[in-house]
Amino acid sequence: MLARRSFLGAGLAGASALTLSSVWSQGAPNFGPPNLPATGFRRMTLGSMEVIALNDGAVRRPLGEEFVTNAPLEQVKALLASQSLPTDYIDVPYTPFLLINGNQRYLFDTGFADNGPPTTGRLLANLAAAGLRPEDINNVVLSHFHGDHINGLRYRNGALVYPNARVHVPTVEHAFWMDDARMESAPPAMKGAFMGVRRALGNLSGDQLVKFEPGSMVAPGITSVAAFGHTPGHTLFRIDSAGQSFAYVGDITNVPALFARAPDWSVVFDMNPDMARQTRRRVFDMLVRDKMVAGGFHFPFPAFGNIEAAGNGYQFRPMA
Ligand SMILES: [Zn+2]
Repeated sequence: MLARRSFLGAGLAGASALTLSSVWSQGAPNFGPPNLPATGFRRMTLGSMEVIALNDGAVRRPLGEEFVTNAPLEQVKALLASQSLPTDYIDVPYTPFLLINGNQRYLFDTGFADNGPPTTGRLLANLAAAGLRPEDINNVVLSHFHGDHINGLRYRNGALVYPNARVHVPTVEHAFWMDDARMESAPPAMKGAFMGVRRALGNLSGDQLVKFEPGSMVAPGITSVAAFGHTPGHTLFRIDSAGQSFAYVGDITNVPALFARAPDWSVVFDMNPDMARQTRRRVFDMLVRDKMVAGGFHFPFPAFGNIEAAGNGYQFRPMA
């Protein structure tokens, strides 16, 4: 069973780092705006379906000791430098995916809507550029309940962004975050994360909220796969159509330049780092073996591509 203490203790830094004040802190050195894709959406055909990466923006955060919790900053900077990447800051992009299967449209994770830092909240403009309206989305599917994945369900004023969508959530994740006793006993820095879940998901009507068991089929062609560790119920999705496969892997890794190349490193947001590490290797081994196209929420745009073996870890190769 899930070790409740390990999730509540280890996720502390991650939960507090998800609050806006710390990702966008006033005293941080100014490294300029993050790199944003010129065209913030990208289509990919998958059998008889279509997958569209929809960028919601990015945040540039100063790279400090806290970001990788189990490696010295010098090693982290060396790995970035070896890939000709900046070493003073990290750009963390946010990219939900839209799956179109006939008249069914599934949005995987939501970004921030108007609740996030100023360089986020671009998903709706990119959705419009791809020819769709929020009303066209019939399903939202959530990988886990961290703020950057769920806050875009509602505008700041509380109105639903996708009024016609049913919201599909993993049972385990929902049970963890909606447990009032657990919220009460959580460290103060983590309470905001519990309250954010209630803001986004708490007032959905019975038929708007659909819970699924990780491992089960969410909809025709969409199979959920338990990938616990980043959060207690973190779930990925395998999509199959006419012999082609795509995996939306959520936060199986944050920035792949660090955590695919060094998969045993832990990002501050991994709530159970040991479990997340094991899950990451298991999932990446599968992606390499099956040569499956993978999409990751924090992967560099277009945020989908192939995972290859590299050294003691892996490498993300974005689709050209
Ligand atoms: Zn995330």
